[in-house]
Amino acid sequence: MRILVVEDEHKIANSIKRGLEQETYAVDVAYDGESGFDLASTTDYDVIILDVMLPKMDGVEVCRQLRQAHIHTPILMLTAKGQLNDKVEGLNAGADDYLVKPFAFAELLARIRALGRRPKESLGSMLSAADLSLNTLTYEVARAGRHIDLSKKEFALLEYMLRNKNRILTKDQIINHVWHYDADILPNTVEVYIGYLRNKIDKPFTDKPSLLQTVRGFGYKIGRDS
Ligand code: CA
Repeated sequence: MRILVVEDEHKIANSIKRGLEQETYAVDVAYDGESGFDLASTTDYDVIILDVMLPKMDGVEVCRQLRQAHIHTPILMLTAKGQLNDKVEGLNAGADDYLVKPFAFAELLARIRALGRRPKESLGSMLSAADLSLNTLTYEVARAGRHIDLSKKEFALLEYMLRNKNRILTKDQIINHVWHYDADILPNTVEVYIGYLRNKIDKPFTDKPSLLQTVRGFGYKIGRDS
């Protein structure tokens, strides 16, 4: 999942970013409303965390303009204690949820997970392809009943692919959803990680069909059949 954080207080923004990255999310940060709007309207995020009080354009306005532009990415508004009007205004402007500052990181995480799931509600926290399963809450990955250890990036890659099961994903789509802007992406980074993943989810299961497929000239997909 790729998340945009729009928050002008650098300390808060950076600690949210660090925390979310530890949870395997790809995170971009904007420090004012205008650049937040620009990023949100040009990049495909899974969730946007939007502070209300922002320089250049406030969060409520950013939210309103995004919805006017038909961008329906789930938005979690951050509002300071006592600014109840912000909350009402924010929800009216099209935000999906709000959180009052200061908040516990665990609370933020729970809200993000709920929002990230919302568009594909039926998927819940268990993602799967054939006999491979991934639990987005417990981080457990298993195939044919055997536990598989993945690094954080491998997990994020597999999660993204399973959320788009049986769809061909281009390298650009994968980079956009699994890595953030500042990450060092080399031309072969995606191939390298696809290789790591293949070694863990397909190679050891020699009697099973391969799940991770390279669609030459297009990209990659996960799924059992062709
Ligand atoms: Ca602020």
